Amino acid sequence: MATTPSNKMRPTPHLPPNLPSLVATAFSRSVATKTVNFYPTSVTLLTINSIPFQLRYSPSLASKPKPPSVTTPKLFFNPFASPTQEMLITPFGTSPPSHNLVLNKFAVVPEHFILSTSAFKPQTHLLEADDLAAAYACIDAYARHNKELFVFFNSGDHSGASQPHRHLQLLPVENMKEGLEGEWDVLAKGLTDPNTRGKLPFEVFARDIEGLGGDGEELRRVYLELYNQACEAVLGVAEDIKHEGEAQISYNLAMTNNTMAVVPRLTEGGVVRDKDGQEVGNLALNGTVLAGTALVRSEMEWNALREDPDQVNQVLGRIGVPNRAKM
Ligand code: AMP
Repeated sequence: MATTPSNKMRPTPHLPPNLPSLVATAFSRSVATKTVNFYPTSVTLLTINSIPFQLRYSPSLASKPKPPSVTTPKLFFNPFASPTQEMLITPFGTSPPSHNLVLNKFAVVPEHFILSTSAFKPQTHLLEADDLAAAYACIDAYARHNKELFVFFNSGDHSGASQPHRHLQLLPVENMKEGLEGEWDVLAKGLTDPNTRGKLPFEVFARDIEGLGGDGEELRRVYLELYNQACEAVLGVAEDIKHEGEAQISYNLAMTNNTMAVVPRLTEGGVVRDKDGQEVGNLALNGTVLAGTALVRSEMEWNALREDPDQVNQVLGRIGVPNRAKM
């Protein structure tokens, strides 16, 4: 029977040193064979309370399958249960490998990839130290090539999550900047600054994590601290916040080389209206909101939001707990 090393004995996960080129090669090969769907997106820069925010339009995502909760559960296919050779970038972690790196079939930017647990674990359960260590090892592997990764995690009904098998998503930051004219950077990187947090319409909790990778125990302590703050923001002063098993709230987590951030979520998004007040769609946000990005799937939404960017601000005001510190 496979044994799981105890937390104290868990070694730092090692990844292939050439991870960025491994991801790039796997991505190009799978786009060429149409195993991965990637169509260039249109992008524009909006300013939300003086924060540069990017809006991306990807018509191809309109054909993305609906999550299992709205389809027949019997037909549900788990893409992370046993990834095909074409989708698998590399297994990794202690032996037997605890995690897989796989391509995202519906890439929003080139080389969008996923860190999933090898064995099924619920997406709605709290992350474990080895999940966080694995994510930080990916960030580190990119940093060694002077490249940045943005990691995000969606958990719970209001978080924008769609797959029940535990996974975090990873986006190369230089690819997130593709096509952008103007200054933009990953929002999460600045969230340890209370002035930046104060500009957001929703509450977000953030801490500096630079150099905390290792076996993930330190990262988990920070994660639980932020999770506690998020729970208290939603549930009030909560004495009974559990640190194992099912999470008590919906939330998104973001990680960069220097920052971990958690935003408690109350709704997935809000309606989008054209200039005549007609409803033209719905802006749904997941953890990429902590990068300072939003993605739309229809041309009508894209046009309406560019004409009236304040609608993005209004939706941001609804997705979480209203920010008491907002300036
Ligand atoms: P989430 O919506 O946070 O649960 O993330 C699930 C991710 O899995 C989405 O970004 C999807 O694009 C991606 N995805 C869906 N189906 C597949 C698949 N067959 N192979 C790889 N990734 C997939």
